[in-house]
Amino acid sequence: MDRLIQGFDQFRREMTAEQREDFLRLATGQTPHTMFITCADSRIMPELIFNTRPGDLFVYRNVGNIVPPYAQHVSGVVAAIEYAVTALKVQHIVICGHSDCGAMKALQNPAALKGKPSVEQWLKHADVARYVVAENRPTILGEEGLRYLTEENVVGQLEHLRTLPAVAAAMANGSVRIHGWIYDIAKTEITAFDPLEGRFRPLATDPADVRDATPHARFSTPLAVASAA
Ligand SMILES: [Zn+2]
Repeated sequence: MDRLIQGFDQFRREMTAEQREDFLRLATGQTPHTMFITCADSRIMPELIFNTRPGDLFVYRNVGNIVPPYAQHVSGVVAAIEYAVTALKVQHIVICGHSDCGAMKALQNPAALKGKPSVEQWLKHADVARYVVAENRPTILGEEGLRYLTEENVVGQLEHLRTLPAVAAAMANGSVRIHGWIYDIAKTEITAFDPLEGRFRPLATDPADVRDATPHARFSTPLAVASAA
């Protein structure tokens, strides 16, 4: 705790004039351009890796970067997305998974969830990824299996995202675009889901949007091609 308190003290002392201006400007409102949904993992620091300033990103984090589909039971992330789209008018929503994700590892090894009933229940929202990979890549385990699972989880959560009425309405009139990314911690690299090719490709300056795409064809390509990403 001392490290946090000292860190805050140091931050205030070393704050730049630009930062001071940002905070004054933002004191009475925010207009972030992007909602960024990622894992709660402590190694992911969106504001650091995207070089953003206060007020740029509306960040929401949870275990496994999950967006439950629209249902009667409302989760925090679904409420935050609705607020971001209808009140803040964000133009983009990014769902970002990452390498070495503990949640994805737990999907691979359900025994790890013993004694964690809430996590186990929460990860049911990622069942779509587990099933898709088990049915289509049953022989691929370990690192590569984890990569497939992580990618398919992002694709599955994008599908869930589209079930939220506020998102569907904003996508229909083109005011919101949604994106699926994977952040590789060791390589500091990001790959983005390309719905037209059904695979993840290095992040481009103008990533494809998934408004009209059907991501489910991604396992129709031969394994060698799919692995080349
Ligand atoms: Zn994670």
